[in-house]
Amino acid sequence: MLIDGSPKHASTDFIPLSVPSISGHEWTYVKECLDTGWVSSVGSYVDRFEQETAARTGSAFAVATVNGTSALHTALMVAGVEAEDEVLVSDLTFIAPVNAIRYLGAHPLLVDAEPTYWQMDPERVKTFLEQDCTASNGVLRNRKTGRRVRALLPVDVLGHPVDMDPLQELARRFELPLVEDATESLGALYKGRPVGGDAELACISFNGNKVITTGGGGMILSHCEASARRSKYLTTQAKDDPIEFVHGEVGFNYRMSNVLAAIGCAQLEQLDTFVEAKRRIAAHYLQALPGIPGITCNQEAPWARSIFWMFTILVDEAAFGMDSRALIRFLDQRKIQARPLWQPMHQSPAHCASQILGGDISTRLNRRGVSIPCSVGLSAEHQAIVIEALRDAQRGGKA
Ligand SMILES: *Cc1c(COP(=O)(O)O)cnc(C)c1O
Repeated sequence: MLIDGSPKHASTDFIPLSVPSISGHEWTYVKECLDTGWVSSVGSYVDRFEQETAARTGSAFAVATVNGTSALHTALMVAGVEAEDEVLVSDLTFIAPVNAIRYLGAHPLLVDAEPTYWQMDPERVKTFLEQDCTASNGVLRNRKTGRRVRALLPVDVLGHPVDMDPLQELARRFELPLVEDATESLGALYKGRPVGGDAELACISFNGNKVITTGGGGMILSHCEASARRSKYLTTQAKDDPIEFVHGEVGFNYRMSNVLAAIGCAQLEQLDTFVEAKRRIAAHYLQALPGIPGITCNQEAPWARSIFWMFTILVDEAAFGMDSRALIRFLDQRKIQARPLWQPMHQSPAHCASQILGGDISTRLNRRGVSIPCSVGLSAEHQAIVIEALRDAQRGGKA
């Protein structure tokens, strides 16, 4: 334990930002795959992982994929997005959902975050759809570009759900399919309901940094049997006849292997424990950090139960005494890994040509945001070291 916060008492261990916890039946299930030879893209663990993830999220159907990005690509196709369409998507996000729009030759319409919970701002979506679009013959068009507005793709950022009800309402009113990128919020609740179960299509990722992992993997969730069937079809090479090699259209090989699904089944069994650990870590940060001048923490809306997937603070340079990037370097010297919040998509070299609705909030969040260690397995001792380092940094201490 730290005694007086001086560096000589600090841990000599590296404290990573977020690492997986492999502590359940992973070995047993994987061994069973290897022992029985069911290692490839069909097998009982793929079916089981799909069924159990659907049950856990309150969805009727689930289709496992090779990663979260391919799940998003597929879900957008199933939603009917085509080349030259536009899709409303969060500006403050990891880049994957915005890339998926571009894979289809469609155009992202970037929507700023709201300042309180940092999620896609439903008010901006509403204003845009009501004031900046025209509808004729059942086709909604962006006045500025003349292009068809085709779908909504809100991203649940940092483990907290987006405010879905107003977005669902707009989706219904303007007849736009809604695809939820729930990759960061598996296990969270929105108004008491599991995240992912509400959207027409929702995507999750099981990448190594997510709340549960298969090493790499993803899933498409849906209420709709036709959408689920179409997702399965597109992710399995659009195969019409398995014997005669008849493929009805250009499909994709986006399947998850049975070995990875086996890991997924074991991880899913631990989801509740992991979420509890994330929330315990967050509760401790939320209690300790607001006492440090210049630091504010990511908050939980009264209507949400966040999983605090990636615990993130905002650093006000004037009050804290250093900016977010200097803090990251300070922590690095103490062997504490920290990362900035994502570059907003309207500033990304890959997507800066896109239209942006707002953008000031995401810019400020990126400039001030720092994600700090929050692994499921983070010990109380390591968390105390992180908190002490933040106090030292604010006091202008030497790293
Ligand atoms: C991680 C992530 C993805 C992509 O998932 P992969 O499995 O890495 O392809 C997509 N969207 C968001 C918001 C993510 O955080």
